[in-house]
Amino acid sequence: MDYEAMQKAGSALGSGAPDRAWTRPRPSCPVVKRLVDFYHHESCGKCTPCREGVNWMAKIYERIVAGGGREQDLDLLLDICDNISGKSFCALGDAAIVPVQSSIKHFRDEYISYIRTGP
Ligand code: SF4
Repeated sequence: MDYEAMQKAGSALGSGAPDRAWTRPRPSCPVVKRLVDFYHHESCGKCTPCREGVNWMAKIYERIVAGGGREQDLDLLLDICDNISGKSFCALGDAAIVPVQSSIKHFRDEYISYIRTGP
């Protein structure tokens, strides 16, 4: 997997932040949490949508991974993503929402199973 191969397949590696997180067959909730934690750590705090939104997402993932998740958290996360998308000063805000939106879109059933059965 490299930048050229992903471009040829009609996709992109983005920031490259996922690192080894995506070597698992499917992105689990704890894996997406790692990505959100990365963006949370990197957010400089200059603009409100990214500063607050990524912080909220990190707290929600922390709660889900700790076993206190609720199924409505998924729509709440997507709502936060909508409030960050296109409203932050630099690309970090938009990059931070990609793993959240993508994983919920493609693996919502796994999120729900994780929330229902716990970590
Ligand atoms: S989007 Fe960019 S400028 Fe805004 S808080 Fe995040 S890192 Fe800072």
